[in-house]
Amino acid sequence: MNNAISYERWRLLLMLVSIVAIGLLTDNWIVAILLPSALYIIWSFYQLYALERWLRKGAVKKKAPDSGGAWGEIVQHIYRRQLAAAKSKKRLSSMLTRFNTTISALPDATVILNPSFEIEWANKAAREVLGIDRRRDIGQRIDNLIRNPDFQRLLNKKRNKKQKNLEMPSPLNPADTISVRLVRYGKGSDQYLLLARDISERIEAQKTRKAFIANASHELRTPLTVISGYLEIMQSAPELCEEMQEPVRAAAEQAHRMQQIIIHLLELSRLESAELAESEGERVDVPEILSNISSTFSLAGDDGSHMINLDVDPALHLLAKEEEVHSVCLNLINNAVKYTPPGSTVDVRWYQNSMGQACLDVEDDGYGIAPEHLAHVTERFYRIDDGRSSETGGTGLGLAIVKHILTRHGGWLWVDSTLGEGATFRACFPKSRVLS
Ligand code: ADP
Repeated sequence: MNNAISYERWRLLLMLVSIVAIGLLTDNWIVAILLPSALYIIWSFYQLYALERWLRKGAVKKKAPDSGGAWGEIVQHIYRRQLAAAKSKKRLSSMLTRFNTTISALPDATVILNPSFEIEWANKAAREVLGIDRRRDIGQRIDNLIRNPDFQRLLNKKRNKKQKNLEMPSPLNPADTISVRLVRYGKGSDQYLLLARDISERIEAQKTRKAFIANASHELRTPLTVISGYLEIMQSAPELCEEMQEPVRAAAEQAHRMQQIIIHLLELSRLESAELAESEGERVDVPEILSNISSTFSLAGDDGSHMINLDVDPALHLLAKEEEVHSVCLNLINNAVKYTPPGSTVDVRWYQNSMGQACLDVEDDGYGIAPEHLAHVTERFYRIDDGRSSETGGTGLGLAIVKHILTRHGGWLWVDSTLGEGATFRACFPKSRVLS
């Protein structure tokens, strides 16, 4: 049995003995019962008072009252619990301070938003990147402080998406560019974390790189045209001796290839330099483009042995840049012909899918693409088989151009293939660009 309880039993026993002794001595049993009981009650009240005073004055800091018996045990229990709670509070508070210092030291702006997009917390960098002051702006709606329309759209678009990104001009200096990321988190995913960083330097470096590629390609174009011209003249000159014929032919072929690369590089830098607005473009008769490309291949194809099957919705037209749509169709069909052995069939389908998007499927039964290459074929200069690509006059830029054009038009490119069994390329344009 608990020590305190047995101690209390002895106390009660002593009280009973006192009652009996006083009763026998005085023969007044009322006094005999009341006197020890009153003393016991007064003593208990005193213990209660001491305990309440100790708790009121901050139990852990002050010395615990020196109570005996059950009261002492109760005081000890409370003291131990208070001590453990104080320790865990101290640990939590130091963790919170460390967490606050770490997040405050992050170079990226970090802002915590509630479900109504009101600011709950922001770190120091938020002031430098977004102009949000955590003391001044807490409780304000973020879209009242950052009034960029793209940012407002980002907040209101698809609330079910876990993470959304945007690159936009800095609210502090429109000449700078910032990258903004909105992440949903928390129970029920109704809290938002807004992360932002200044990416002006990266954008500047990208601009310099693009300008360099565009300038270098432009500068190389003229001398290459001259070289190609002379090589062509030399090839057809009757006085060219026999041993020089092969080197001149090879040089002309390489010069032609370099010209193709330059044309593609210039096309890419043109695509990168101009944005395309959502409703920009003209009516493009895609069925006609496909029919022209297919007849060019049947007339002048490698050896005329590829079959191109057209399955086209004649009424499906696009609001787009005609030259660019032509480039998408030509690159995809050209690849299907290049990467299939003679005698193969290429199926071309132009249709509206169940979501209303206008899609071009180009399916071949050629060499196909191994799974590890599928994700990379749209990268610049990515060639799976350098030899085969060079043989067929490939530049490694065709699919990069296709992807760029589709992205500019709000569309997407999908590739599926089994090695040795052929490949299917699907290029889709959004419903908003469909004209029937
Ligand atoms: P290239 O000018 O070399 O054809 P692309 O960008 O058009 O460059 O294509 C990149 C690479 O993807 C090609 O080198 C080729 O290896 C592969 N590829 C593209 N289309 C097909 C296809 N229909 N079948 C098999 N491989 C393909």
